[in-house]
Amino acid sequence: PRPPVRRPCRVMILVNPLSGRGQALQLFTGHLQGMLTEAAIPYTLVITEHQNHARELVKKADLSQWDALVIMSGDGLLFEVINGLMERDDWQEAIQTPLGILPGGSGNALAASVHHYSQSPPAWNEELLLSCGFMLCKGLVGSLDLVSIHLASKQRIFSFLSLAWGFVADVDIESEKYRHVGAIRFLMGTLVRLATLRVYQGRLAYLPLIPNSSPTHKPHPPPDSLLPGLDQPVPESWTVVKTEDFVLVLAIYQSHLAEDLWAVPGAAADDGIIHLFYVTGGISRPALLRLFLAMEKGAHLACGCPHLVYEKVRALRLEPISRQGVITVDGETVEYGPVQAQIHPGLARLIYG
Ligand code: ADP
Ligand code: MG
Repeated sequence: PRPPVRRPCRVMILVNPLSGRGQALQLFTGHLQGMLTEAAIPYTLVITEHQNHARELVKKADLSQWDALVIMSGDGLLFEVINGLMERDDWQEAIQTPLGILPGGSGNALAASVHHYSQSPPAWNEELLLSCGFMLCKGLVGSLDLVSIHLASKQRIFSFLSLAWGFVADVDIESEKYRHVGAIRFLMGTLVRLATLRVYQGRLAYLPLIPNSSPTHKPHPPPDSLLPGLDQPVPESWTVVKTEDFVLVLAIYQSHLAEDLWAVPGAAADDGIIHLFYVTGGISRPALLRLFLAMEKGAHLACGCPHLVYEKVRALRLEPISRQGVITVDGETVEYGPVQAQIHPGLARLIYG
């Protein structure tokens, strides 16, 4: 069941002019402006001037002025907006503001996911943008799971897409320098990283989703009832992964990791599930490449790779032992060290469908 149809009327559109190939603004004027005018949707365009501009803006904005906040960028700008909303004193109300996504970046995982949820055949680039623009004009609002993530410094952040460590996080950050080629930067980064493939030591534990228990779709607000302190041992109900050798750990809560990486065939925006993947040490380079190539069609789980494990979970903890490494949240680098996370089903609202 979905909340009632509501057509957003006063829309703030946040554009990161530097995202992707640096063409987000041109893409907006070329493809979206006319569509929004025709659909009689009044909007205000805000062009971000620096990192965290959008975060500070939505933190202080009078949200009664806006029926939707739309992001025309990659996933990084939406991460800013969600965290800005959650940092407000009135976060409970603020996070109910319908959010929209228009792919303007090089990492457009949420846009690819919502397009996929609409059961349309795969689309890329301008075609994906038009599809998302059309969804914005329709203005159907659904719920979106958020994951709260605790870092070693006691900071808590909110995530709508992914928590990654090892291969995936390294590719995400290293491939930033190829952002001018667009979404294909992940494939280029994968090929480069394969040459220097390494194993990362760490401890991983998770709280499995209990089979047949349907996750509650009522937004139950933070505090994070499933998480003990990061300095406390994990509860006995948790599963501790036996190995400490990983090539990658990826917790993802949408279907797509990038426009052409269909990571979770069964995911929905509000399924209340953290889809936890990990690849254990010992996998060969060709086998790992095969997994990523198969992911384009969502077929990696059918590869029969004994190093790939997939679990549906509600919470998890990752404690890296390797001294150096990268952890990303929604494609953005966060502090390296122990992290834990729990799902908050349907905490935010998103325009899609
Ligand atoms: P892409 O998919 O191309 O990486 P993102 O939306 O993820 O696009 O943005 C990349 C980074 O740029 C994010 O960390 C975001 O917070 C930051 N950012 C947003 N607006 C600006 C700006 N005007 N100048 C510089 N960085 C920005
Ligand atoms: Mg990004």
